[in-house]
Amino acid sequence: MPDRLVDSHCHLDHLEPDAQAEAVERAVRAGVRGMLTICTSLAAVETVAAIAARFSPHVAMAAGLHPHRVGAEGAPSAATLEALANRPDVAGLGETGLDYFYDKSPRDAQQTSFRNHIRAAQAADVPFIVHTRDADADTIAILNDAAADGPVKGVLHCFSSGRALAERALDLGMYISLSGILTFNNANEIRDIVRDVPLDRLLVETDTPFLAPVPMRGKQNEPAYTVHTARRLAALKGVGESELAAATTANFARLFPKAAGLASA
Ligand SMILES: [Zn+2]
Ligand SMILES: [Zn+2]
Repeated sequence: MPDRLVDSHCHLDHLEPDAQAEAVERAVRAGVRGMLTICTSLAAVETVAAIAARFSPHVAMAAGLHPHRVGAEGAPSAATLEALANRPDVAGLGETGLDYFYDKSPRDAQQTSFRNHIRAAQAADVPFIVHTRDADADTIAILNDAAADGPVKGVLHCFSSGRALAERALDLGMYISLSGILTFNNANEIRDIVRDVPLDRLLVETDTPFLAPVPMRGKQNEPAYTVHTARRLAALKGVGESELAAATTANFARLFPKAAGLASA
């Protein structure tokens, strides 16, 4: 019996319906019995909700607008996002944040959208999921502003930032989620930072269909591959794979109470 893992961040709507069913089945068989599938577009909310319903109790959802899509869709209001956050099937808001690497949306619009997601998450008392790339200083500034308004419950997904952002996020009580990037040869700097992150703040994810971990690198990613990142993370933290699985799954349930069923699915 494999240990129980949760893939805290995947995009099942990026797969064809048949491929979704096969991927969920392989994940469950691999011990990845819970998956949080994440919206990148508000136009996709109902599609993603239908996927979560189809694969219940193994799949739950988060709703939000990816920074890449803010330019095309416009920054949503906090009221729109708060209404989504209050849906019983929405476990969190995201993914939101800042991506200054690809710069696919105007930076001021990305910032407005990010702030509105956090404001709505705080109002509805749900966690938010942060995508941040080449934007550490502005991410820290927005998180600091949010902390003045209330608790900052969230996760830095697919962690690939610098130490200052990691430390600030941890100080604020946030979590850090590791993707397949953790297994890449050139990720020494990330591994150095992650070594110092307490075990009770770590999550694991695939970001399916992107970023397949070693030894699957180059293939289309899928939730079952969470096991490879978890294995590498256990070695890095100097704990057994069972302990790592138990900790990250408990962390997931603590951060995402509305999706806590994934931890026992
Ligand atoms: Zn992302
Ligand atoms: Zn993502």
